[in-house]
Amino acid sequence: MDAAALEQLVTANRILAREGIVDAFGHVSVRHPAYTDRYCLSRARAPECIEAADIMQFALDGTPLEPAGRKPYAERFIHGAIYEARPDVRAVVHNHSPGVIPFGVTGVPLRPIMHMCASMGTEVPVWDSRTSFGDTNLLVATVPMARDLAAALGPRSVALMRGHGCVVAGGSLREVVFNAIYLELNATLQQRASALGEVTFLSDGEVRAVLATRTSFTLERAWEYWCRRAGRPYDVRPMEGPLGGG
Ligand code: MN
Repeated sequence: MDAAALEQLVTANRILAREGIVDAFGHVSVRHPAYTDRYCLSRARAPECIEAADIMQFALDGTPLEPAGRKPYAERFIHGAIYEARPDVRAVVHNHSPGVIPFGVTGVPLRPIMHMCASMGTEVPVWDSRTSFGDTNLLVATVPMARDLAAALGPRSVALMRGHGCVVAGGSLREVVFNAIYLELNATLQQRASALGEVTFLSDGEVRAVLATRTSFTLERAWEYWCRRAGRPYDVRPMEGPLGGG
């Protein structure tokens, strides 16, 4: 990865920390732009603290390629399994953001409540590690667990993890950060609206219409805003469009 690409991954970490999507825990990766069977992810460190020198490269099975004494995240396997299963995915977030947790443990489905959150789709699956792996510490710390999670994600952009958090997939770092931030907002708003009464969610057709008309400019405008809030330079570069969108 060139220096600009490394800095962009650092920026993604800082934005997610600033916006409350990750805290001391949670991580974001990007598929290697030149070697599609590798991904780039920080060493085990809180996203707010991450510097370019922390970024490591991994094979899709989670093997660190140049560890140089750096300790990787125990749950890095999540990222490789999703890149392996989804050639269209170029960036992945795993987090424990507080708003999504209730929807992973109650059987109440998380559904899109407003247009900015349409990228979550109309069906958000909940993956339960206990179904295939029994009582564990809930960490996705093996390839088989990560592949099971990736299978539950399927072609979607979001899967919840019961008693743990969620995974978010995107076609670029900008898109995955966008999706993770608006997923958390959707969860918070859905809980608030449900307390008032019956909720009218976006229809399948509305979700399709939002995604068909969303352009990379939407992601760019949000990225510049979040860079400013996180105190990071805004790196203007031509980027890939969103998954399944315009
Ligand atoms: Mn986790």
